[in-house]
Amino acid sequence: MNNDIAVGDDYLREYDVIVIGAGIIGSMIARELSRFQIRGALIDKGPFPGFGVTKSGMAQIHSTDFCPPGTLKGKLCLDAPVRFKRLADQLDVTYREVDELWLALEPSQIANLEAAKERGEGHGATGYEIIGAKRIRELEPHVTEKAVAALYIRGLGVIHPPEWSFALTENALQNGIHLYLNTSVLNIQKTEEEKYVVQTSKGPFKTRFIVNAAGLFADEIAWMVQDHHIRLTLRKGSIAIFDKSVSHLVRHMIFGTFSESHSQNIAPTAHGNLILGIYYTRPENKGDTKVSREGIREIMKLGKELVPVLSERDIITSFAGILAGNTMMTNGDFYIAPSEHVPGLIHVVAGAPGLTAAPGIAELVVKMLFDAGIDMEEKKAFQEKRTGWPRFSAAIAEKQEDMIASNSKYGHIICRCEKVSEGEVLEAIHRGASTLDAVKHVTRAGMGRCQGGFCGPLALGLLSKELSIPVREVTKKGDGSFVTEGPMGERGRNS
Ligand SMILES: Cc1cc2nc3c(=O)[nH]c(=O)nc-3n(C[C@H](O)[C@H](O)[C@H](O)COP(=O)(O)OP(=O)(O)OC[C@H]3O[C@@H](n4cnc5c(N)ncnc54)[C@H](O)[C@@H]3O)c2cc1C
Repeated sequence: MNNDIAVGDDYLREYDVIVIGAGIIGSMIARELSRFQIRGALIDKGPFPGFGVTKSGMAQIHSTDFCPPGTLKGKLCLDAPVRFKRLADQLDVTYREVDELWLALEPSQIANLEAAKERGEGHGATGYEIIGAKRIRELEPHVTEKAVAALYIRGLGVIHPPEWSFALTENALQNGIHLYLNTSVLNIQKTEEEKYVVQTSKGPFKTRFIVNAAGLFADEIAWMVQDHHIRLTLRKGSIAIFDKSVSHLVRHMIFGTFSESHSQNIAPTAHGNLILGIYYTRPENKGDTKVSREGIREIMKLGKELVPVLSERDIITSFAGILAGNTMMTNGDFYIAPSEHVPGLIHVVAGAPGLTAAPGIAELVVKMLFDAGIDMEEKKAFQEKRTGWPRFSAAIAEKQEDMIASNSKYGHIICRCEKVSEGEVLEAIHRGASTLDAVKHVTRAGMGRCQGGFCGPLALGLLSKELSIPVREVTKKGDGSFVTEGPMGERGRNS
């Protein structure tokens, strides 16, 4: 996934459009832009696409009833499941269909379900049904007896967002977009000839159009062009993941109550665990993704109200993500708008449900670039298909034998919890996964009960060998996050 930067010119490269941020939104926009004959680049300060907020949410493709009436986000989320299913087929990535049950835990809450149904239908969505306690128990035998009714919504889904950002980026690259990872945008300057110079940690780039899809940092990019009105409001959401041994407890996305400090939600993940959240607190800063003991206690409280038999003992990991709202829109809507000060720059400030809306946002941004005067024609040779690599654990026995016959590395399981083979890890590394977390998120090695206790050192060794770097230089997630001081013998020699 790497593009070598041609150093030596005044500018490292000149582009028609630069997208800042390779989260789910930036990678979706880059892929949409790659349909056209343009010189485009996607720049991210992280070591891998999708490693910002994108990798730290509930990963659900929601229905429009989450969006207030008359909002842009409501329009952009309409038909999201259909779009995601189509994309999953084109990009060879996982999309798991999961229906939703929004529970009323007491009769007074039924009015909330009716209002949500009306809101969703107001956006043009269909398929909402209010069901009673008996039907809830048939669908979810482990759910609390307190549930008196539920809003039942069919045809939704869940994904693993970093896997998607990676696939979208790969497909954009296949179609000619350039990618610059580990590249921070530091400043944006206007030139006299209606162009911009994007100053980065790797040097300057020149471009005519810019898309600011920097997520939590979209405000700081906006300030670089004097759009000081762009302000974000932040909430930290803590989330827990459960071992697969309890996955039978929940089959739907189950919701309960909502407030400033929580969104009560338990659901299956794309790869078969249960995910439980969300407990909100105020983050200390944009990098504050610590989960506290109190956080886990609060998450468990939310979970046990929905599914009383849940046990904290089955939590295998926890994490937090920072949700960005904005102060420009009074109704909680996304702010997707051209810059007030510089023509040709589009700001994308999307909080929740930004994942759900991402395909719609990408189409809207392309339209806004046309309105801003970009001149681009559709490519006849656009390749909409991207091919992943075979997954050993998902293959039937006969296919597994074929995989091993074609490459013996598929017969060497390195992650026992998730049954991930060495062949898959090597494939991921050769396609750009250069840190332990990148390998983990695109292969699942390290995602199971032991959380990398067994496969971590093996993945570390493979990264070191394939990237031709010493073990001590392999990082967890880039940016100096080294995991060892080197092999034991080497450490002994150095100490
Ligand atoms: C707890 C939680 C739960 C959520 N659950 C859901 C859900 O179930 N469904 C749903 O639809 N939405 C959900 N969301 C919202 C959704 O996750 C986000 O809206 C979405 O991921 C935002 O994507 P993004 O691409 O804008 O941001 P990001 O993923 O943060 O991407 C921005 C990128 O910009 C890069 N960047 C920033 N500054 C610079 C710079 N100066 N130079 C270069 N690169 C830069 C970053 O490295 C990052 O990769 C949830 C959010 C949270 C926090």
